[in-house]
Amino acid sequence: MTSSAKQIRTDFIDFFRGKEHKFVPSSSLVPVGDPTLLFANAGMNQFKDIFLGLSSPACRRAVNSQKCLRVSGKHNDLEEVGHDGYHHTFFEMLGNWSFGDYFKHEAIEWAWQLLTDVWGINPGQLYATVFAGDPSDSLPEDTEAAKLWTKVTSLPAERVLKFGRKDNFWEMGETGPCGPCSEIHIDLGPDRCDKKNVPGHKCAVNAGCARFIELWNLVFIQFNRAEDGSLSPLSSHYVDTGAGLERIAAVLQGKSSNYETDLFMPIISRLAEMAGQKFTSRMNNRTDNAFRVIADHIRALTLAITDGATPSNEGRGYVIRRILRRASRFGRELGLHEPFLFKLVGAVDDCLGEAFPEIKARADYVSTVIESEEASFGRTLDRGIEIFNEAANKAQKAKNKTIAGDDAFQLYDTYGFPIDLTQLMAQERGLKVDTAGFEELMEQQRARARAAQKSTQLAFNFNETELPETEDLHKYDTDSCRATVLGFIDQGTFITEGSIQTGAEVGLVLDKTCFYAEMGGQVGDCGIIESDNGKFVVEATAKVADCIIHRGQLAEGTLAVGDKVTATVSPDRDATKKNHTATHLLQWALREVLGDSVAQQGSLVGPDYLRFDFTYPKAMTPDQIKKVESLVAEKISADLPVTCTVLAREQADKVGAMALFGEKYGDEVRVVAVGADGEDALQQAFSKEFCGGTHISRTGLIGGFKIIKEESISAGVRRITALTGRGLVKYFEQRSDIVDELAAALKVPADSIVERVSALLKENKKLAKQLKFGAYQGGSDAVAEAKQLLDKCTKVGSASIVVGRLSATTVEQARAAIDMLRKKAKSAVVVLGFAEDEKVMLLAGVTDDLIKKGLSAGDIVKQISPIIDGGGGGRPNMAQAGGKNPAKLDEALEKAVELAKAKLNSA
Ligand code: ATP
Ligand code: MG
Repeated sequence: MTSSAKQIRTDFIDFFRGKEHKFVPSSSLVPVGDPTLLFANAGMNQFKDIFLGLSSPACRRAVNSQKCLRVSGKHNDLEEVGHDGYHHTFFEMLGNWSFGDYFKHEAIEWAWQLLTDVWGINPGQLYATVFAGDPSDSLPEDTEAAKLWTKVTSLPAERVLKFGRKDNFWEMGETGPCGPCSEIHIDLGPDRCDKKNVPGHKCAVNAGCARFIELWNLVFIQFNRAEDGSLSPLSSHYVDTGAGLERIAAVLQGKSSNYETDLFMPIISRLAEMAGQKFTSRMNNRTDNAFRVIADHIRALTLAITDGATPSNEGRGYVIRRILRRASRFGRELGLHEPFLFKLVGAVDDCLGEAFPEIKARADYVSTVIESEEASFGRTLDRGIEIFNEAANKAQKAKNKTIAGDDAFQLYDTYGFPIDLTQLMAQERGLKVDTAGFEELMEQQRARARAAQKSTQLAFNFNETELPETEDLHKYDTDSCRATVLGFIDQGTFITEGSIQTGAEVGLVLDKTCFYAEMGGQVGDCGIIESDNGKFVVEATAKVADCIIHRGQLAEGTLAVGDKVTATVSPDRDATKKNHTATHLLQWALREVLGDSVAQQGSLVGPDYLRFDFTYPKAMTPDQIKKVESLVAEKISADLPVTCTVLAREQADKVGAMALFGEKYGDEVRVVAVGADGEDALQQAFSKEFCGGTHISRTGLIGGFKIIKEESISAGVRRITALTGRGLVKYFEQRSDIVDELAAALKVPADSIVERVSALLKENKKLAKQLKFGAYQGGSDAVAEAKQLLDKCTKVGSASIVVGRLSATTVEQARAAIDMLRKKAKSAVVVLGFAEDEKVMLLAGVTDDLIKKGLSAGDIVKQISPIIDGGGGGRPNMAQAGGKNPAKLDEALEKAVELAKAKLNSA
């Protein structure tokens, strides 16, 4: 019977549960509180502090399935992916743990039992390795493990092999816990060797071919390495084991590679459907390779983004971006040119959703992030591939077969090709890349960026351990306290004697303080610290280790170490408190309106405004924003109590308090709850968040709440900026001023502004259209031209004869010009003509006084229009005609003057 991967995972956990192990869920792929690690890459990461003796274990035996990503640093399997069938970027490491409890005997016996009895793997295929010792480091051979293998399992001595430090000695780092390890390998048979063509290759354990594969590593932590390199035995022994779920699944399901197991096939099938191609599972085959890489990478992307990583240009984010771009490029091999990766997120959820329910919870968000990254890279990818091909052709012809550093840099800088993508593509064509040249150009770019960026922060580079602890409990209950000056941080040095003078800019350290140091998104306090002799203005408060540093300037007098001072927080903090409580209300309301996919990504809470970043795949609609605002407003006007309680982490989890995603908390946490007070405050509150910030005591004090901006800050992450209290009052004052100014300028009452402006806009639109039309017609202004004609007109008595050509215009404008001339000249005969292409127009107008004298615009037009091969007429006051002979326009106009003169003279 073949076991599903899910069954294998459950078997493992149940087997060790049966041996009194406690199940511990996988930690996040994005490690919390460990800046030395970009991604979790082994089961032991989350237990590191226990091995280092920094925290005590919650249990003596643990079992888990840890999400691992090996794409950077010490463990990087990215290059292997796709080329073999058993190295992935993302994989699950099944592990059992002993924290000072059992040791080698049980670890070996149980691993063997599970593999051979429970899972029925043929013992004849298995090998164990043990540490051979290292005399240069006075490390003894692990004879204990070697003996145990033959004693507690059926393994014959010739299949227990000794290896050196590289393979069988594990160290956490340069110093710290370490110990020998013992690995279990499986022989999958000679057919599986993938190094047959490599000269001198002989299949064996640790020889690097696919015939012998490591399944499980048992680490026995029993030494501590000191700074000087010496080893000493640890008083407690630990067992740390890791077995690859995908590899075990391939063995138990009888597949020739991990990709054919049920952990990958649903993804591959979906991909095959999209690409219209078949996966045939051949190694060294371009198409199959693309299938493998994409299936691997989409798992890594889905899990990492689910756990809070987002594609960006540095650190963790850049690793994610590289994986995504690599996968995207492999999509081209399958003929996929449009974003496609995001469509596979569902398939990843199908494979892993049960073990990791967080995938489903954030699937919409994850696919939005992936799709938008794919789309933006896709825009340059095809062009980048062309540029790469040109550079590769150039390199092919060159002696050194190397792609130039500046080509690699151009691909990186303009087309977004991570250097390892260029390298990979070069490798496929048997080429190298000048990475040194590339690095040099990168360094130049970084230097330019550094020069452009002016650091605004005071540089503190002192040794943190020399800083004293500041007692700052009173930050929650008072704005002013008495304290003693312990020292100053000046130019990166902590000074504990002497004094500072007016103007000095330092970090002031006190024995205690009521100032809140920047943390959890809330800005650090400003304020005044005063002694009898001096006044120090605090511009910002920060916390380094357990020391609170008041950064600022001595505005008056002097201040000496040992001085008694009064520290007074600026009233700004009241405004900050309102914004902080409002941020909690906002988060609650967002989840009410948008659902549970809203997860906080960050926040900034200061006196003037609040900012809240959260995951949501699309822009909020105006309706949703209104809804959120009114929910918050309701809670404000209900004037509900806000309580802060410190309690045990487990209890906080039990009442459903919300922790910040990916944040590490201690055993005791502070929970801020809104909605109820008294005994069951925590049960009844509608908003409960882990929070160390300062808050007002009742929601009514917030005064009001308004969202002034909702925007996208990166794919799938929205940012809301909102105001409360004085920020809101200021905002309304400014708006009110603007309304007053508008009303004055438009000369209407305030409540007619909208109407007036929309009328103006309409008119403006019409005018713009006319203007555009005019411009299109040649840009003439018929009325202006007509005025010039009036200036040089012929007079007969008091009557004017205004006749002439206009530049190309419209009939409407020519009519407008005639109207204008009739009014201006008072007594006039006007005849205007204009030509356009093959057509010509004549228009005439006569003032009423002259009509009485027998003149008629209609008559004039009738008489002159034949000259231009046309016809027309009209009334005595206004007439027009079109013709087909523009060349004769001037002749027609001359005739019009003649006729008008004759009529006037005879009148
Ligand atoms: P290998 O030599 O095969 O790369 P490793 O020595 O790096 O393995 P460990 O660090 O001991 O492996 O990890 C414990 C177990 O995790 C391994 O025995 C293996 O089953 C599994 N494993 C390690 N790396 C990977 C990977 N990249 N993909 C899938 N499984 C892995
Ligand atoms: Mg490895």
